[in-house]
Amino acid sequence: MPASLDEPVDLRSDTVTRPTEGMRAAMAAAVVGDDHYGEDPTVNALEAQVAELFGHESAVFVPTGTMGNNIALRLLAAPGTEVLAEEEAHVVTYEMAGLAALGGVQTRTIPGSGGVFDPAALAPRLRVDPPGPNSSGDNYAMVATAAVAIENTHVHSGGRAWTLAEIDAVAAVTGPLGVPLHCDGARIWNAAAATGTPLSEYGSRFATLSVCLSKGLGAPVGSLVVTTAENEVRARAMRRQLGGAMRQVGVLAAAGIYALDHHLERLSEDHRRAHELAEALAEMAPGRVINRPTPTNMVLLEVSQANVFAHELAERGVLVGALTPTVLRFVTHLDLTDESMAYAAEVIRRLLAEEPPAQGVNASATATRSRDI
Ligand SMILES: *Cc1c(COP(=O)(O)O)cnc(C)c1O
Repeated sequence: MPASLDEPVDLRSDTVTRPTEGMRAAMAAAVVGDDHYGEDPTVNALEAQVAELFGHESAVFVPTGTMGNNIALRLLAAPGTEVLAEEEAHVVTYEMAGLAALGGVQTRTIPGSGGVFDPAALAPRLRVDPPGPNSSGDNYAMVATAAVAIENTHVHSGGRAWTLAEIDAVAAVTGPLGVPLHCDGARIWNAAAATGTPLSEYGSRFATLSVCLSKGLGAPVGSLVVTTAENEVRARAMRRQLGGAMRQVGVLAAAGIYALDHHLERLSEDHRRAHELAEALAEMAPGRVINRPTPTNMVLLEVSQANVFAHELAERGVLVGALTPTVLRFVTHLDLTDESMAYAAEVIRRLLAEEPPAQGVNASATATRSRDI
């Protein structure tokens, strides 16, 4: 590490950020109460702010995005039904099968490209028996599709953002059948920044959304389930059941409000840095950057042995995650600077020079094994 960088350049995930001084001051000054009684004014303000951003009636503060997805999807899917999601989706891959284990809900996967699936791939998988004369009469055996989940941005593909047109194409298939859409919007903020889509436009397409404050927005913790006032009551009950009902968490909500007020606008800076890193790496080693042009704040790089490469980088003060055995993932975020990015690019360049020729892998075609999501 150069003397000017006093700690490693951490590109493992955008979850590694620490609260800024301004955020810590907001947390220290937060007015709090017992949220279980609905009496924490800062939590109430955060929930109102997020509901309004997405044009929904309600939002419920939960500790994690995993809990948010679990609650939101179980609002839509009763035990004994199924949720359809893209095959590498977080709800399928990284949530310890919580929908099945806790909700009695099975997930079924849709093949996708970059996390986006084609309505033509979705349509034949939707199992909804229309009532009336066209019913197959098979309602006693067939598992009914209760919801379809869309992940925006999609993490496994390296931060691909769904456009409104792509979401609308899915809604055109699900809407007439009455199947609601859920958005795993852990990084919906990045999607909005990259595509220029207002959050309310995304919000209006979904029955439920789960959005995270702890990723690119830089809060230490916190997610919200965004939905209708009617669903809110059940969401709060489920949160309690999962052990997620909290008390004087206005200190955490204050971090979230601060993040929304100060860190939304700057996401384009993260996207610029990811783009610059990808272009620099592409110049050094043509064909190795898998998600080029980079859609948001992630760069996927093909190497011969990801764990070995990551270890070599770590020894030189650059931390990265191995997404698959041959794909590294670099994620940009709030705690980086142009200087730390330049250092990382130089270290990566030196190691890349020793690599054998690229094989041309597809990130979504290889087994998942990242811990840093
Ligand atoms: C991070 C993430 C979540 C939620 O993760 P938590 O660590 O439980 O907050 C959900 N979906 C996606 C796509 C994510 O990247």
